[in-house]
Amino acid sequence: MGSGGETAIVVAVLALRAAADALLAASPLPLSDDEFAAVMCETEKVTRQLDAAKTGFVDETRRRDLHGKANVNSPALYLEQSLRLSRADACRRVRVADKLAVRRVAGQVLEPELPVVAEAQRAGDISADHVTRILQAMERLPGSLDIDLREAAEAHLTQYASTGWPDDVRKLGEDILRRVDPDGKLCGDTDRQRMRGLTVGTQRVDGMSALIGEITPELRAVFEPVLAKLARPGMCSPEDPESPRTTAESVDRERLEAAAKRDTRTAAQRNHDAMLAFLRYEADPAILGTHRGLPVGTILTMSLTDLENRSGVATTATGGTLSIGEAIELAANSTQYLAVFDAAGMPLHLGRGSNRRLASKAQRLALIAAEKGCTRPNCTAPATLAAVHHVTEWSKGGRTDIENLTLACDSCHALVHDGPGGWKTVKLGADSEFPGRTGWIAPPHMNPSGIPQVNHRHHPGELMAATVSRIQSRNEVERQRLKEWLNRRRCTPPPTTE
Ligand SMILES: [Zn+2]
Repeated sequence: MGSGGETAIVVAVLALRAAADALLAASPLPLSDDEFAAVMCETEKVTRQLDAAKTGFVDETRRRDLHGKANVNSPALYLEQSLRLSRADACRRVRVADKLAVRRVAGQVLEPELPVVAEAQRAGDISADHVTRILQAMERLPGSLDIDLREAAEAHLTQYASTGWPDDVRKLGEDILRRVDPDGKLCGDTDRQRMRGLTVGTQRVDGMSALIGEITPELRAVFEPVLAKLARPGMCSPEDPESPRTTAESVDRERLEAAAKRDTRTAAQRNHDAMLAFLRYEADPAILGTHRGLPVGTILTMSLTDLENRSGVATTATGGTLSIGEAIELAANSTQYLAVFDAAGMPLHLGRGSNRRLASKAQRLALIAAEKGCTRPNCTAPATLAAVHHVTEWSKGGRTDIENLTLACDSCHALVHDGPGGWKTVKLGADSEFPGRTGWIAPPHMNPSGIPQVNHRHHPGELMAATVSRIQSRNEVERQRLKEWLNRRRCTPPPTTE
């Protein structure tokens, strides 16, 4: 545990570790059902108390400015990297600490923003799920709400959560909101701006993604007229070739009415098709301008083999996938960028000589196809959020050749520097497991080994391939060992491997 010495907190963590080891080693078999259930409840309670301790740690991390010292953009990113948390979990912990942590500032102890919830968490009465739901419910209360009512709502939600289920806390929150602000008069523009948001969920295996969000009256005002026109029965139906598609073509009344009669789509399906038609035909790349040096539009990449076989998937620069058929359809009908690459995956030589600092459009497309996103290990930023960078800096004589270029998102690129806590990048040689890829060397606080790592996040297949080949080679060693033993025909069994 380093130089923590015999301070109370170090002693406590060591005791905790010893207790956890003892718990894992102990058998529940001698217990009666009632005794076992009691042990399970008590363990759950202790785990919840530990959550409260971790909430305090998050705040302490921030107070010590550990992320600043490690040159990482935010406390959440520091937690994500140093504790290997998911992005969502790291952000959630920081949000919880914002509201529940007891602050220690210059010898002063400050009360948390939601003291009742904090106390229930410290007592082990509520779980992390309860806390999340309570924070969501509190967040929805109007900013102008009377302080007494706000405190009453906090107490009410916490009291319920101490005996009830997380899923019901949301309903209770809505109920409270209906009582304190029945006609929504207390909810102001600031509240609405705080609540606004639109999230495109992770793409599922079946290719679909959830779109979740809350929109402001302003977005609704500009969105509804689009739906009114493009989501009318008969408009923009993908199943009906006679259906009018764009706002540009003058809609023939009879043609629309005939298409409407054939239209069997639900209202939700019509809304979906309207949005697709709008973004596809109306969101003109010429108006949207450029983003990181390329016109705004869907950039599609696919392998030549997949294109020829009409199989497999195409990848977009935003990290999504779609079938080759859908990609061809999209590319044929609108101003999209289609890049086809050979089976090897690494781009062709597209050198531009050493007198140009900026990468060409072709080089950028090649990198999008090969690297698919930011190359720093575990970064999930897709190509649309990444810029082309020199692996050996331009200022240090690095050439603008494809071999010296790589994709990195802005926050990862900012991590590369010669000062303390800085990362380094190298192109991996032919003898490496991943030749031609960009290797990132983490600062010592994250990885003391100094071995360059590549990012597998945008290449999910290769990690699996590496594991499979490791298992195969282990099996091969095992087979070899068994063969030798049989050859010797001894009566002793083969020595077991670790
Ligand atoms: Zn990144």
